[in-house]
Amino acid sequence: MKLNLRTRTKIISAGAVLIFGFFIWAIFIPPGLGRWSKAAYESCNAKLKTIYVAQLMWCEDHGGDTNLIVTPADLAGSNGYFKKLPSCPEGGTYMFRKAGEYPRCSIPMHSLEFGRVLIVDVGGSAIPDARVTLTLPGKPSRTLTTDRNGETWLTDFPASEANAWDRGVVSVLRSNQSAQSIALPTNWPLRIAIK
Ligand SMILES: [Zn+2]
Repeated sequence: MKLNLRTRTKIISAGAVLIFGFFIWAIFIPPGLGRWSKAAYESCNAKLKTIYVAQLMWCEDHGGDTNLIVTPADLAGSNGYFKKLPSCPEGGTYMFRKAGEYPRCSIPMHSLEFGRVLIVDVGGSAIPDARVTLTLPGKPSRTLTTDRNGETWLTDFPASEANAWDRGVVSVLRSNQSAQSIALPTNWPLRIAIK
């Protein structure tokens, strides 16, 4: 098939627009933004879990104080628990804290506490049986009820909803009182104090 000049020009300019668009995206969208995929969330969380287990092993080998600050150098390398530290499938940066705390990824959804919601009263006591509704734009809303620790997890979601999480809203209803709405955080868990 031979394309005439006009068609060829069209194809070339469409290609140029695509390539240009990609560079703009790569330059101006910081890592972590616009990256919401359930597969990556699950893969990154599996790595974070492995790192967490290694942190606890390291802690046990160093006196058992879970408040000790752990560093990547403690876990990886010749004397470490990994040859090479696991890394985020989407290029997020891992952050380390105390050995007894979950390591974090710089991509908000990549967290072992992603979707964890805690409902407390103003005094800080857990509120059981509060109704927590998650609304993602363009998706059917879901309502869950807190357990006796005032806790529920919003993590059971289809892959097609993943990219809507950055614009999600959670509202909380306690018995007959009016609902309280809050935008989803980038730092999980989401702790909501209600009257
Ligand atoms: Zn990650």
